[in-house]
Amino acid sequence: MKFKTIIEPFRIKTVERIRLTTEEERREYLHAASYNPFLLKSDQVIIDLLTDSGTSAMSAEQWAGIMRGDESYAGAASWQRMEAAVRDLTGYPYVLPTHQGRAAEHLLYTRIGGKGKIFISNTHFDTTRANIEFSGATAIDCPIPEGRQPDLFHPFKGNLDTQQLLENIEKYGAGNIAAVILTVTNNSGGGQPVSMANAREVSDICKKHGILFILDACRIAENAWFVRHREPGYEEKTYRQIAQEMFALADGCVFSAKKDALVNIGGFLALRDLDLALQCRTVLIVTEGFSTYGGLSGRDMEAIAIGLEEVFDPDYLHYRIKSTAYLADKLHELGVPIMRPAGGHAVYVDAKAFYPHIPPEEYPGQALVCGLYLKGGIRCCEIGSVMFGKYDETGRLIPAAMELVRLAIPRRVYTQSHIDYVVETFSGLLENRQDVAGFRITSEPPFLRHFTARFEPLIPVFETI
Ligand SMILES: *Cc1c(COP(=O)(O)O)cnc(C)c1O
Repeated sequence: MKFKTIIEPFRIKTVERIRLTTEEERREYLHAASYNPFLLKSDQVIIDLLTDSGTSAMSAEQWAGIMRGDESYAGAASWQRMEAAVRDLTGYPYVLPTHQGRAAEHLLYTRIGGKGKIFISNTHFDTTRANIEFSGATAIDCPIPEGRQPDLFHPFKGNLDTQQLLENIEKYGAGNIAAVILTVTNNSGGGQPVSMANAREVSDICKKHGILFILDACRIAENAWFVRHREPGYEEKTYRQIAQEMFALADGCVFSAKKDALVNIGGFLALRDLDLALQCRTVLIVTEGFSTYGGLSGRDMEAIAIGLEEVFDPDYLHYRIKSTAYLADKLHELGVPIMRPAGGHAVYVDAKAFYPHIPPEEYPGQALVCGLYLKGGIRCCEIGSVMFGKYDETGRLIPAAMELVRLAIPRRVYTQSHIDYVVETFSGLLENRQDVAGFRITSEPPFLRHFTARFEPLIPVFETI
């Protein structure tokens, strides 16, 4: 018998209480948080879809590993296990542990970056771009054009545009390109996958021009699922083999363990080149910690080693990708405008299409984020003009290209009924969406305003949703 129901391939052994607040309570909390969900307290939230980073539920095996953690300063057994797990997966001989992904980025990109250097990526993740620009270098995004069209179907919307890559090599000179970074899956583009063919093409171009090729690999297991199911020739390979094949194409990787290593903190940099690794190791010891723990405790490293195994379990990966698609499909059926097909870790809702009567200056994404919280206690993140909007000289808003709301799904945390509840909340919001009004910003910091900005609803309409 072929089952349609996707069951969670785990039993629940420890539970964490969710406090079921009422709409009245949430109205007060939202007001107190100045209509910015980043300012809510987590116990005021019923379903937290703010991020999939560091929010995974660890397995019984990982918790057992936590107890086994060897906290020796140098050469801990837990480090040896993590190093072996990373070497075996990536094939890179030199592994540098870091407290999270951005620390690995900082080690490498400040080493190879600097003024006049160029980095090219399918899309640089925020912290990647920040580390590159901090070094004085320039980060250029070259996603394929299909990746920028929310409604268009393409099996590998995360691919890098190799034509643009070649043009940039021509324009800036291979010697000035510090690295090409392939982000798998492409986080900023909605967790969209990258094909093996694309990775191979990028690899060939980099080899030919002598350019360093780095994978930003924190969701490479999720990416492997898409390769196996969408790219001809990979049906018979295991997810792990697919990931290994992709690692083999590159010269190294940065990795945030808070994603596919199924832990709450951690990361690493892994490299093929000894000389580069030694240069980064010097900075590691100055800024993170000795080279056999680099800012992590022994128990963290133990949990990472186990998580890197567990994430390739075919039942887990199938459940993971299918349950993200489940949310996307249900929302699509309801008539909620979303980016399709769904990526691996998140569903993006097109708030501009959801609230067509709210202009970008009144932040339709923020209206949706607040509506989801008020109606259902669901917390998620605006990725639109609140996050990326800028002002011109006259103080007028230059809106972002898209007004999206991201529903990021923590790994192994929520069950199907939680997701059904999210869908039901959307159906409630659809009912009187024409009555919903937008927001005005009352105070904001000069940088990264979405974290701490304060808002005011253009009432009285908001009160009625
Ligand atoms: C999360 C993330 C990072 C940064 O990792 P942190 O652990 O948050 O520092 C880098 N790249 C991508 C693609 C990510 O998703």
